Amino acid sequence: MMLGLLLARAGVRVTVLEKHDDFLRDFRGDTVHASTLTLLDELGLGERFSAMPHRVVQRMQVPLQSSTSLVVDLGLLPGPHRHIAMVPQWHLLDLLAEAGRREPSFTLRMGVEVTGLLREHGRVVGVRYRDAGGSDGGLHAAVTVACDGRTSAVRAASGLRVREFGVPLDIWWFRLPRRDVDPQGFAVRVGDGALLAMIDRGSYFQVGYQIRKGSDARLRAEGIEAFHRRIAALAPEFADRIGAVRSWDDVKLLAVRLDRLPRWFNPGLLCLGDAAHAMSPVGGVGINLAIQDAVAAARYLAAPLRRGDVRLGDLARVQVRRWAPTFLTQSLQQLAHRAVIQPVLAGELGQGGTGPRRPSRLARLLRRFPRLQAIPAYMVAIGVLPEHAPSFARRSGSS
Ligand SMILES: Cc1cc2nc3c(=O)[nH]c(=O)nc-3n(C[C@H](O)[C@H](O)[C@H](O)COP(=O)(O)OP(=O)(O)OC[C@H]3O[C@@H](n4cnc5c(N)ncnc54)[C@H](O)[C@@H]3O)c2cc1C
Repeated sequence: MMLGLLLARAGVRVTVLEKHDDFLRDFRGDTVHASTLTLLDELGLGERFSAMPHRVVQRMQVPLQSSTSLVVDLGLLPGPHRHIAMVPQWHLLDLLAEAGRREPSFTLRMGVEVTGLLREHGRVVGVRYRDAGGSDGGLHAAVTVACDGRTSAVRAASGLRVREFGVPLDIWWFRLPRRDVDPQGFAVRVGDGALLAMIDRGSYFQVGYQIRKGSDARLRAEGIEAFHRRIAALAPEFADRIGAVRSWDDVKLLAVRLDRLPRWFNPGLLCLGDAAHAMSPVGGVGINLAIQDAVAAARYLAAPLRRGDVRLGDLARVQVRRWAPTFLTQSLQQLAHRAVIQPVLAGELGQGGTGPRRPSRLARLLRRFPRLQAIPAYMVAIGVLPEHAPSFARRSGSS
């Protein structure tokens, strides 16, 4: 959606296909990072974003070995936005879609699912799709961009090679009622072998509960009462409302994956966001990375698209620009899987943990030099090599 908006502002004819009829998908993360907030300002959408109901996260606490925690203090960030905004992602997408519709060359088609690629002489020249009425069709394009997430049908059809990295976790995703006295924004609970992340969405919490990769079927077989007990043990304040999760139908399994394409493009085709590099939820940085990819792609592709002459080298430049941020961010996620997630799943971290009690080297370092907390804050809220709106996409606040 971000790429569609930026290209349309450059005067490029662009069609965004979204397989669902609306953006109301629970699975989307809620984070709008400091660098994305700056980008929205540059696009003239900052005021409209601020007017939407949202929560603000200024501090995060990440459990480390030895029952210490890493405090990520976003107040140490440079720039105008020293926080992460929490807003259900459908509101952000609606905002971008509305801005896109103001551009004459922008088309958004909802309920249209891409089912395959159109090829001519070895080059991708568009997509095959099925629309909401069940009719099949084809759409030709100078460039097809796969932005269809971590189970991308487009990249599967492309034949591009995928490099998979193992992950230790999957997520159970469910809702619990929220009361006014409950914590706001984002909160984490860590206990014996479990981690629970709570996203405040006003009247309810969207809850992510981390389980061992591949353990979903076995845990479901224990029954919904065992699930209730598990959550109540970790967050006793929810014991009186966990019954709101009536059956396993209310608990969705989100399969986590971490992978990357060694090459993000083929003639006529470019993969971005999770379609190029599926992100783990750890650190909540995947949305930001996908948005930054889109900005880089718009910058490098707008002129060749306007000229009607997009070469393989133009697509390659996007990957070259975004490869280092992707590699570094995914490497940090892998480190966090080893240093935090695996010990949590093994019951070594948290209130009831049995793990080492000696403060980790990282915890000792951060305690000694608190200003170093600015590094994780920067990595989470701004990210490596943040992108800024190209001049053709910039608008004043009132536009
Ligand atoms: C459990 C979990 C929690 C997460 N929480 C966070 C978080 O809090 N913060 C964060 O930054 N990251 C989070 N992430 C990572 C984040 O979700 C992704 O990195 C990010 O959404 C990638 O954005 P994207 O635009 O590439 O793909 P997506 O957000 O997955 O968007 C893909 C879009 O393509 C559409 N689509 C799919 N297939 C087709 C098709 N065939 N035809 C047409 N449309 C199609 C989908 O409906 C969807 O709208 C989380 C990941 C998981 C697994």
